[in-house]
Amino acid sequence: MRAYQEVLARIEQDLLTGRIDVGGRLPPERELALRYGVSRASVREAIKVLEAMGVIRTNVGSGPGAGAVVIADPAAPIGSALRWHLASRHLPVADLVGTRVLIESWAVQAAAGNAGAEQLAGATELLRAMENPGLTAEQFLELDTQFHVALAEAAGNGVITAIMQAMRHGIQAYVTEAVSALTDWPAMAERLRAEHAQVLAAVVDGDGPAAGRAVTAHINGFYADTGVG
Ligand SMILES: [Zn+2]
Repeated sequence: MRAYQEVLARIEQDLLTGRIDVGGRLPPERELALRYGVSRASVREAIKVLEAMGVIRTNVGSGPGAGAVVIADPAAPIGSALRWHLASRHLPVADLVGTRVLIESWAVQAAAGNAGAEQLAGATELLRAMENPGLTAEQFLELDTQFHVALAEAAGNGVITAIMQAMRHGIQAYVTEAVSALTDWPAMAERLRAEHAQVLAAVVDGDGPAAGRAVTAHINGFYADTGVG
């Protein structure tokens, strides 16, 4: 193991045990070098890696806000890791669709069980925005993806939210490709609006199983009818 990898492993351990606070400041470079018995250059290299992964944010200067802060939002590191994975592996669209069905059917059921009007306000607002007949297909699909992410957020599970946010670009790319091959976009938009309304209504009614079935049919139906991938 190279020295900076050793530092990464030790920092990970310190996060797990609470010796380094999530949301708090990372100890200074020289202190970490001493603690881990490595050079300051190795610590600096590890900090660069953590920053690139979105685990920490560094602020320049010497004031109280200076230094490296451990980011509290778990979506950032999970998101960047998954995005790289999706980009570099060229994962099949069918796998992305299958993962969406698994995650989103669970998420809408959880949201139906515990989300109030406040947690669903974002999704409701997005449905309204998608009613605008002046939207281009691309604008519509951007809102569509946001709607699905908002529903997942309403489930209140941080890991699920992070995964959905990470998959967002992958989802957007394949649905945009699918729609560009369609001959009748307005008809498809009308159908997607109706299906979204059905999903949200079931969640608002607290009918988890109906919401799960509706979102599954929505995702699989779009995929089957456009035949992308
Ligand atoms: Zn949709």
